[in-house]
Amino acid sequence: MPQTQVGQRSSLYRTAPVDSAGPDYVNAVVEVITGLCAPDLLEQLQKIEQAAGRLRPYRNAPRTLDLDILLFGAARIESSALTVPHPRMGQRAFVLHPLAEIAPGFVPADLLLDVSDQVTGRLEC
Ligand code: AMP
Repeated sequence: MPQTQVGQRSSLYRTAPVDSAGPDYVNAVVEVITGLCAPDLLEQLQKIEQAAGRLRPYRNAPRTLDLDILLFGAARIESSALTVPHPRMGQRAFVLHPLAEIAPGFVPADLLLDVSDQVTGRLEC
């Protein structure tokens, strides 16, 4: 991606689909340092999804690759294309566990407790 460097990366986590069907997913959280604005970052992420053969046949269909913006610095964004912080990130163990690994200050302990019934396993690799 232009004007963008990868910073910290979490481990990979294996998770059963939430609100979807199909095989398990592999999840991770990556920090990027970018000069792009948030809408341009989303556009770049969607290009990567497409290059990976992502189709959108219906809502929550099993997907090859799903790249979301969880946080964009301290920004709060509410537009037709983008909601940041990501609206469902606080309810998903597969987001909170890898995020806590690279940015523990962004994940309060009570949120982790709330998702403790969700099974997600760190992959050894
Ligand atoms: P998804 O199916 O998860 O790829 O999301 C589909 C749509 O969600 C995208 O076309 C985006 O416009 C929208 N969207 C809203 N907020 C976000 C976000 N924080 N990160 C990624 N996509 C978002």
